[in-house]
Amino acid sequence: MKGRVVLAAGAFSHLLARTAGVKIPLETERGYNTTLPDGGIDLRCQVTFGGHGFVVVRLSSGIRVGGAVELGGLSLPPNYARADAMLTKAKRFLPGLNTTGGTQWMGFRPSLPDTLPAIGPLPGTPNTICAFGHGHLGLTQAAGTAAIVADLLTGQATGP
Ligand SMILES: Cc1cc2nc3c(=O)[nH]c(=O)nc-3n(C[C@H](O)[C@H](O)[C@H](O)COP(=O)(O)OP(=O)(O)OC[C@H]3O[C@@H](n4cnc5c(N)ncnc54)[C@H](O)[C@@H]3O)c2cc1C
Repeated sequence: MKGRVVLAAGAFSHLLARTAGVKIPLETERGYNTTLPDGGIDLRCQVTFGGHGFVVVRLSSGIRVGGAVELGGLSLPPNYARADAMLTKAKRFLPGLNTTGGTQWMGFRPSLPDTLPAIGPLPGTPNTICAFGHGHLGLTQAAGTAAIVADLLTGQATGP
């Protein structure tokens, strides 16, 4: 494994690939959430409002309202009006929700045009293994990707 590199820098990965002369059409789908420390409702399961683009979920730190997709690149400042809009919508469905005192957050989902992650050698630079571009499912797919990357690094056949 000596001398090998795993390129797993999320939405910034294409910038590093570029230094090796490889152009990758990676975009960032920015998403927002607000964590409400005292949500005011007894929420016992995740609730997805698919038609409205947001999810409400209980965490140990409170109730989180999140979602949204914004094509805003890596350097624009966050537009927390998007997080506010989701809170307003959530309150409409869950009138008891206490929407005050929340902590807002914006993050980058690294997305490729075909929605499939880039896993495997960087073209022309076989010692660099790519592992990025999981779009909306980076947490879900992390363990599977790690197993494939480990096989590639150790020269084993990757599983189905
Ligand atoms: C709002 C939102 C909701 C999400 N919901 C879900 C969900 O429901 N289910 C799910 O599975 N996933 C979800 N995700 C995760 C998301 O889908 C991503 O796919 C995932 O976070 C990508 O993981 P990553 O490890 O590739 O990148 P990241 O988690 O972004 O990690 C990349 C790391 O690389 C570092 N880095 C960048 N540049 C450099 C550099 N030059 N040198 C060294 N380090 C560098 C960064 O600091 C960062 O630590 C959500 C993400 C967001 C933003």
